[in-house]
Amino acid sequence: MILLDGKIASAAVKTGIQEQTQQIIASGKRAPHLAAILVGTNGASETYVASKVKNCEEVGFRSTLIRLDSNVEEAVLLQAIRSLNEDAEVDGILVQLPLPKQISEQKVIEAIDPSKDVDGFHPSSAGKLVQGLPTFIPATPYGIMLMLEHFDIETKGKHAVVIGRSNIVGRPMSILLSSNLKRGNCTVTICHSQTPNLQELCLQADIIVAALGRPEFVKADMVKEGAVIIDVGITRVDDATAKKGFRIKGDVAFNEVSPKTSAITPVPGGVGLMTIAGLLKNTLQAYLINN
Ligand code: NAD
Repeated sequence: MILLDGKIASAAVKTGIQEQTQQIIASGKRAPHLAAILVGTNGASETYVASKVKNCEEVGFRSTLIRLDSNVEEAVLLQAIRSLNEDAEVDGILVQLPLPKQISEQKVIEAIDPSKDVDGFHPSSAGKLVQGLPTFIPATPYGIMLMLEHFDIETKGKHAVVIGRSNIVGRPMSILLSSNLKRGNCTVTICHSQTPNLQELCLQADIIVAALGRPEFVKADMVKEGAVIIDVGITRVDDATAKKGFRIKGDVAFNEVSPKTSAITPVPGGVGLMTIAGLLKNTLQAYLINN
């Protein structure tokens, strides 16, 4: 069994980005610049944004974090996005989700200039992905593709089961795996909360991507011998014995599933780190397109 270690794969991707950034700066140009907007003080969102900012610094990017109050009006957030759209020195814009109830996530996503849409959530980016055109790929599926590449996981002709159909993970993942790409060309089954025979489908899968947000949902009796398992899930589960009072759990019961697999991602230390790598790659891409 190969442990698909996100630390190793993301470090390799980041080193490449860092080298390219050093060359850009050495040639007298400014560094790529990511602007992140964080609304409110959600614990998980704070952690994700802090990690994104830290990773930008590590590869030599500039980053700006704009914090807005949890009761901010939608119009104020949209105006902040417009200012960033117009700022020639900002290459990538991300608004950390989820957003408070008074704000329409769809309006926010659509307010971001598609040429700066490094999260790849804009309908224009999603449409291009469906048509196989160059675009910003949402960071998590992109990171998974980078991981498959790093560990040389064969996908051609395989049956992949993607559990979850969100616009952020499941749906774009299913499109990428079915596309005519080096790490695509799978036959893809996409499952969701209304899929009645999930276990039967999973047992046919050479590759399972679990992205449903239910801790340890995928059990050993759902997995075929030798399958490749990609665990996207991140759920904070209360645990009084843990320092922070919670533990991070994936969507796969790692201990019972891993002995049956040919390769599996750990949680934490797997897909989460690759998501950051995908975001950094998108930001560099935005810089290169816009400059
Ligand atoms: P979401 O809630 O938007 O979507 C969940 C999907 O799972 C839905 O499409 C739903 O139909 C499906 N689902 C729910 N219960 C199901 C069931 N019993 N059987 C089959 N399908 C079921 O979630 P999301 O934003 O796609 O995130 C999924 C998980 O991935 C969450 O734990 C999230 O925290 C995590 N996540 C991790 C990263 C990362 O970087 N590792 C990035 C994004 C999301």
